[in-house]
Amino acid sequence: MTAKKGTTLQDFVRQRGVIQELNPELARIAIQGYEDEITPAAKADESFYRQFRCPRCKSEMSKEFLGGARGVGVTWVDGSLTPRALLRCNSCKLLLNPHTAMIVEMGIRDSLQKCSE
Ligand SMILES: [Zn+2]
Repeated sequence: MTAKKGTTLQDFVRQRGVIQELNPELARIAIQGYEDEITPAAKADESFYRQFRCPRCKSEMSKEFLGGARGVGVTWVDGSLTPRALLRCNSCKLLLNPHTAMIVEMGIRDSLQKCSE
C-alpha cells in the first residue's frame, strides 16, 4: 500500500495505526512521581564531550552516533542512561572514541597541513 499523494509520512503512519499517540494528559500522569534521571545525565554528557579537541589539529569536534553515515561507534552501554557518541573533528574528520581515547579513523590527511599552517 502506498500513501496518497500529498500525504505526509506522519499522516500515513497515523492513518495506518502503526503508531498510537499517547494523550498528553495521560502521559503526564504516567510519569508523575518519577524522578527525571535523564536530564542530569545528558548535561553531564555534554560537559564530558565539550572538553575534547581534535588530538591531531586541535579543532572542535562533533558527536557521531552508531548508525550514522559510516555506521561506526558505540551507542548504548549497560548502566548508562544516555547514548554514547564518538567525536568527529570538524576540520580534519578524525574520529575519536573519547571513552577509550582510541582514534577510530585518521580523517583527511591533507587537512592536517591546512590546520597546522
Ligand atoms: Zn582535526
